[in-house]
Amino acid sequence: MAVIEAASTLTDDELRTRLVEWLRENLPPLWVEAVEEGDEEKLHQARDLVDYNDWCARLGEAGWTTPTWPAEYGFLGLSGAQAKVVNEELARWRVPRSFNIIGIGMGGPTIMQWGTDEQKQRLLEPMAKHEEIWCQLFSEPGSGSDVASLATRAVRDGDEWVVNGQKVWTTLAHMAKWGLLVARTDPDKPKHKGLSYFIVDMKAPGVEVRPLKQITGDAEFNEVFFTDVRIPDSMRLGPEGEGWMVATTTLMNERAALSGAGSASDQNVGGGPVDAVIALAQKNGSANDAVVRQRLAQAVIEGRVIKMTNLRANAARKAGHQPGPEGSITKLFQAEYNQRLQNLAVDILGDNGMAWLPDDEATATTVRGFLRSRANTIEGGTSEIMRNILGERVLGLPKEPSVDRDIAWKDVKRSS
Ligand SMILES: Cc1cc2nc3c(=O)[nH]c(=O)nc-3n(C[C@H](O)[C@H](O)[C@H](O)COP(=O)(O)OP(=O)(O)OC[C@H]3O[C@@H](n4cnc5c(N)ncnc54)[C@H](O)[C@@H]3O)c2cc1C
Repeated sequence: MAVIEAASTLTDDELRTRLVEWLRENLPPLWVEAVEEGDEEKLHQARDLVDYNDWCARLGEAGWTTPTWPAEYGFLGLSGAQAKVVNEELARWRVPRSFNIIGIGMGGPTIMQWGTDEQKQRLLEPMAKHEEIWCQLFSEPGSGSDVASLATRAVRDGDEWVVNGQKVWTTLAHMAKWGLLVARTDPDKPKHKGLSYFIVDMKAPGVEVRPLKQITGDAEFNEVFFTDVRIPDSMRLGPEGEGWMVATTTLMNERAALSGAGSASDQNVGGGPVDAVIALAQKNGSANDAVVRQRLAQAVIEGRVIKMTNLRANAARKAGHQPGPEGSITKLFQAEYNQRLQNLAVDILGDNGMAWLPDDEATATTVRGFLRSRANTIEGGTSEIMRNILGERVLGLPKEPSVDRDIAWKDVKRSS
């Protein structure tokens, strides 16, 4: 890693200056001009001059992709407040960011909390540099919301584990080098207690990945089959039988990542670009409609509410707390908010939202956003489950009845 030394001792202004210097040195001159002049057309042209993988590698190598990761492992070691400066400046420069979000947003924090020194040394750097893509192997055909009931088995064989079973909805498995895998290592224990957490090499013999095509036409997730896949014990994360605890770290970070917590502006919360929807309404004249105007105003207000809730959660994290159940508030609200916003966008498009000319990329992108947003209230835990978590852990309501919580997993009745 080639990060600036003692970055955490810099003032916000010094940090911003160092980052801008780095961006000027590393972006094509046309990009710098486009940002300085606010010229969208030039920026569009400049994008063709940047090789995405090479750019993500350089951004990661300099530490800007993962600003809060520790200096001890070659990263910048910045505070949450300093990271905000970095992310604001990167957003202003409109630079491409790595799509390796399951690694960077979920795997990295889990490895930092539970991993051995060797695991951290081996895995964090290529993750941050977009060289090794990660996926999350939790959900199974019979275990989604109740993921602790999962059936994929890992059986110890000397210094290795032999894994058999099936996962589903595995985002990015077709591109991944590593997977975050939860498997059952002790079926005699109740469901939460007999799990262990592994890092699996997705290129290992016996791993079969089958893409699933979704409503948008893309195939971003997959079915994954494991047949006698061998994982060295050195790739177990956390203690044997404590896989649920480790998985909870991943899930808390997933909810934080899906809650728009990383967004620097309330005008672009978690992929819901309010400004773009307002511009669309102004362009086609529907901004003159009183109901559309009210819905736009409501969207702006809700965006601000999410931003403020995220700021409170960030402040708690800055004070040294791990992401807690409050992540479920913004995960729930962000998912339902984004669906309302995308509905509004296609309502504004009117008939054009059903049929458009082949070169009308803007409309295609808006409709794709609408279709993709259907998944928001399912992925990372459904809205019903978020409400259960909030009821139990934030409001202190009685726990949902669970008949199988204390019986051995092998004795729980399930459909085969
Ligand atoms: C786009 C997308 C990407 C995904 N990526 C991944 C991934 O990379 N890795 C991964 O492991 N998983 C992934 N998932 C899976 C996701 O985590 C599950 O779909 C989700 O947890 C719900 O599980 P399920 O689909 O089995 O639905 P089920 O659990 O079968 O739920 C069906 C319905 O019943 C409701 N329900 C279930 N239990 C309760 C309850 N106790 N109280 C009230 N209502 C309940 C649910 O809310 C839902 O409406 C992804 C899903 C999507 C949509």
